[in-house]
Amino acid sequence: MMTTSQNAVGTQSGLDVETLTMMLDTIRDYVGDAIPDERLLQLDHDDECPVDLVRGMCSDQLGIQLLFIPEEYGGMGGATMDVYRVCERMASLDVGIATSVLATFLGSDPLFVGATPDQKSQWLTEIAERGTLYAYGATEPDAGSDLAALRTTATPVLADGRVVGYRLNGRKQWISNGGIADKYTILASAPGGPSWFVLDRGTEGFTQHRPEDKHGIRLSNTAALFLEDAFVPAGNLVGGVEGQGLIQAQKVFGYTRVMVAAFGLGAGWAALDRAIPYSAARIQAGTPLSEKQGYTHKLIVPHAVALEAARAFIEAVATRIDAGEGADGALNTEGAIAKYLATEAGNRAADAAIQAHGGYGYTREYLVEKIKRDVRITTIYEGTSEIMEMTIARDRWQQHLKTAGRYYLDRAAALRALDARHRDAGAGIAALACEALAGVLEACRAGRLTRNQHVLLRLGELIAAAEGAGCFAERAAAALDGDLPDKADRRFDGTALAAMSRVFARDATHKVVCDGLRWVTGAGAGAGAGGAQAASAVPPQTSLGLDAACAAQEGLIADMDSIADVLYGRGVA
Ligand SMILES: Cc1cc2nc3c(=O)[nH]c(=O)nc-3n(C[C@H](O)[C@H](O)[C@H](O)COP(=O)(O)OP(=O)(O)OC[C@H]3O[C@@H](n4cnc5c(N)ncnc54)[C@H](O)[C@@H]3O)c2cc1C
Repeated sequence: MMTTSQNAVGTQSGLDVETLTMMLDTIRDYVGDAIPDERLLQLDHDDECPVDLVRGMCSDQLGIQLLFIPEEYGGMGGATMDVYRVCERMASLDVGIATSVLATFLGSDPLFVGATPDQKSQWLTEIAERGTLYAYGATEPDAGSDLAALRTTATPVLADGRVVGYRLNGRKQWISNGGIADKYTILASAPGGPSWFVLDRGTEGFTQHRPEDKHGIRLSNTAALFLEDAFVPAGNLVGGVEGQGLIQAQKVFGYTRVMVAAFGLGAGWAALDRAIPYSAARIQAGTPLSEKQGYTHKLIVPHAVALEAARAFIEAVATRIDAGEGADGALNTEGAIAKYLATEAGNRAADAAIQAHGGYGYTREYLVEKIKRDVRITTIYEGTSEIMEMTIARDRWQQHLKTAGRYYLDRAAALRALDARHRDAGAGIAALACEALAGVLEACRAGRLTRNQHVLLRLGELIAAAEGAGCFAERAAAALDGDLPDKADRRFDGTALAAMSRVFARDATHKVVCDGLRWVTGAGAGAGAGGAQAASAVPPQTSLGLDAACAAQEGLIADMDSIADVLYGRGVA
């Protein structure tokens, strides 16, 4: 989606920093004024979507929709970096509201990549000018992770031997904005294959079910859609050619998953930003919780580190998309890693924030309980974490094979070169993780262990950890050099990021070596798939760098101490 002709979001430099900052502040004030905490809790309790607020955000009152519409259609042509920052800000306020706004982003994505120039001009201009709310209708009761199993059909309607329209029949499930949207992009199986259609609310034969009673994001409307001979004119077939639907959906994943990654980041930080001041004020055993290392180093510091590692990855992917590298889904794996790292970190951070509040965290009043329920969706929608693991592992497995095992060794060499310039950015430890990963992948190849799906998906986890560590080291080094992109988040300075990077890299190295050995050994023992060949593939511990991984842990507690000082404003980085 990231060529100029396809989507300005991907290739324009986007907003200037002042405009972006103003937009972030305006979103905070607009939502904060409209929905203070008490109202947020009430809406959550009542399971109510604040439709007026969502419409206000996507209209000339706030104009968020302009961000992702190219200038030629009346929008602001925001870059991916802009969209990530805005998504993070929205999610830090409420993931449900953010989801309602995102639904229009998602619903219009098939248009960016697939629509004809006339269709774009009509539909995208309408979003910019009128704030049309979209819903993205892909999932069905029997087609979730596996969209190819979709059953909704689009039957051509002929007049004088010409296709004049389609009759849609089927059911869509869990559709955000399902009950409140003005327009719906619906994936349906036409004779030529899965295709996107734009359907107006109010179309005869098209009904929306009542909102789902959900675990979280209760401020977001989620509803099933029913299509019974709903007629769409032929001109509403996106792109005018049947059979492009799954390709069009694939093309945008690198980009859309960065947005959901930003939700995980925003919600995770929102939870920590409540736990940090709480623990500074809460006295137990005579001193604040924030002064207890067993508390901070379990419930606060690792989560701040994991969130910032995810941010490093998000910003790296966003920067590459904005440089035009993401065309035709080229950065889908990177988008998957960003989503996986950020949403898993966001979930763990929110869970830890409940624990950090003790009994108060378990009540509704302190909001961390709501944040935890809300952020939970981010590891499910827009591709589950397991599908992310599979996406990541399959692609990098191919890279390992294609390069005869050099892929992560080359990455390690680049990190070692960075380490030579920046000893303290964690690059040397991240290089260890990559070298160990190359060893684990090679053992899996030798033993044909990826025939075990569990091993393949666990490789996805290890790959995300190692790549996350490398990326974080690069971001820390850039921050130390004063060389971060203009729109990068600047919550932490280079010294703090370097300490965080070292902690994350140690964790990644430990994980790749220990878990890698575990899965390689585990798949090799006994009569499971892999069998005897796998047993011979178990590498000696030293070849995976177990000793080096242990040695790299030196300095861990001191780094965690310094990060805690930064988080609590104790001034020592
Ligand atoms: C609140 C909410 C809002 C949503 N909004 C939208 C929306 O706006 N538009 C839209 O189209 N969809 C939407 N979805 C749907 C969402 O994208 C799907 O729920 C998600 O993709 C998972 O599909 P599924 O629910 O069918 O689960 P399944 O695909 O059945 O998965 C169930 C479990 O099995 C795992 N699994 C699945 N396949 C495999 C495999 N091959 N190997 C190993 N494990 C596997 C999954 O990871 C998951 O843990 C929404 C869902 C929710 C809950």
